Order: sequence, then C-alpha cells, then structure tokens
Amino acid sequence: TAARTPLMAGNWKMNLNHVEAVHLLQKLSWTLQDKKHDFDRVEVAVLPPFTDIRSVQTLVDGDRMKIKYGAQDVSTKDSGAYTGEISASMLTKLGCTYVLTGHSERRQYHNETDEIVNAKTAKALEAGLTPIMCVGEGLEIRKADGHVAHCLGQIDAGLAGLKPDDVRKLVIAYEPVWAIGTGEVATPEDAQEVIAAIRGRIEETISPSVADSVRILYGGSVKMASAGGIMAQPDVDGCLVGGASLQVEEFAGICRYL
Ligand code: PEP
Repeated sequence: TAARTPLMAGNWKMNLNHVEAVHLLQKLSWTLQDKKHDFDRVEVAVLPPFTDIRSVQTLVDGDRMKIKYGAQDVSTKDSGAYTGEISASMLTKLGCTYVLTGHSERRQYHNETDEIVNAKTAKALEAGLTPIMCVGEGLEIRKADGHVAHCLGQIDAGLAGLKPDDVRKLVIAYEPVWAIGTGEVATPEDAQEVIAAIRGRIEETISPSVADSVRILYGGSVKMASAGGIMAQPDVDGCLVGGASLQVEEFAGICRYL
C-alpha cells in the first residue's frame, strides 16, 4: 500500500482577525519547533478566514515555516461580476496549498449542493490547489443507518468528471455533521467504517492505485485525547480540526498524536 503522509488541518472558521491569526500561528510554530516536529512525517496546515491569508503568507514566508495554509471556500467562477466571491487563482497567488470544499456549514447555511461542491473542487484543482472535499451525514441519516450510502453518494457526485490523477492528489474529509462542534466525537470504528467505504468506492469507480493514494481525513470534535485512537485506524490519514485548532497546545498535541 502507498505511504500516505498524514495531514492535520485546522479549520479556524470565522474566528481570529489578522492580528490574532499571526499571534496564534507564531505560537503554533514555536510549540511544534520545541517539540522537534517532523513536518515531512506529519503535515500541518491551517485554514484561516480569507482576510487573514495575506498576513499568514507573510509570516510563513518570513519565518520559513513548514506549516501550510489554505482557505475555507472558493468560487465556482474564474473572475468577473461575482460580488463577494474569491477565485481559486487568487488563492494560489497568496501561496495557498489547500482549500475546503463542501464543508457541512457551507452545505447547510449557504445551500451548497453536490453539484456546486463538484464545481468548486474542479476549479480548485485547475488552479493548482489541493481541495479538501468534505462529506458527512446528519444525525437522522445516521440513526436510520443510511450513513455509508449517504457519504458514498456525496463522493460520487463530488468527484464526478474529475481526472483520476486529480482525484489521487486531492484530500477527502469524512465529517459526520452530528460530531461537528458538538463535543460528540465519532468512535475510531465509526470513522474507519465510512472512510474504508469511501476508499473502496474510489477503488471501484476510479482505480485501486488512486484509492491507495488518496488521503482521507476524519473531522468532528477531534481533541488531543481522541486523535491517537482515530489515527490508529488503517484508513484514516489525518484529521480536520475545528474548535481545537484555535488552542495551540491542543492542536499541537493533535499534530503529535504518535
Ligand atoms: C470542522 O468544522 O471541520 C470541525 C471538525 O469542527 P470541530 O472540530 O469543532 O468539530
């Protein structure tokens, strides 16, 4: 099987102005340096609000940090009369590596459909960004035991029309909606079940080699204390972290789960 480098990505959501962002990132970098973190072994990324990205870029470049960064959303359009939108090429220009697509909060509060998520994912890839495409079921679906089918449907629709080599490059995040920001973390077995099913689906619909290479993260109330158990699962390649990514010691602890 392919050696998939684990990725720990911190989704800051709508928190931290650019001064606070610089402060948190500097502390995170010092903390990881103190612990002699090997960034080639476990990749670390932060996903700040758009208004912080320029400051994050300056700090990362100026301090030669190995922490990567990206955005939380991207437009389906290239440029033009789309007031308030941010294009994928604007993000590449700011040195972004990653961009979230299809986060459940975008699907829920901004009516993002699978088709929109698919278009955003394609635009991000075209511009040279690595999308972190999120899927996950709500509580009702989980209770009715429809979680695997639901997530596979989102995977099929989200990846529709993408080139196999693009799918190989991207990152998928399984984030059960009932576990996001609720303190209710899925069990390691819950995470493994859905993530293994996603990998299996990609093996069937694309290829075994792509399935073996694509990184699939778990997200939903991950804390330092729960990261190790989740990461011990064979198909889990990292964590997408919301709340705990705003606390330096917690997030550094998650990055150092080993
Ligand atoms: C998220 O928003 O991607 C997330 C996983 O949030 P939290 O860790 O706060 O549940």
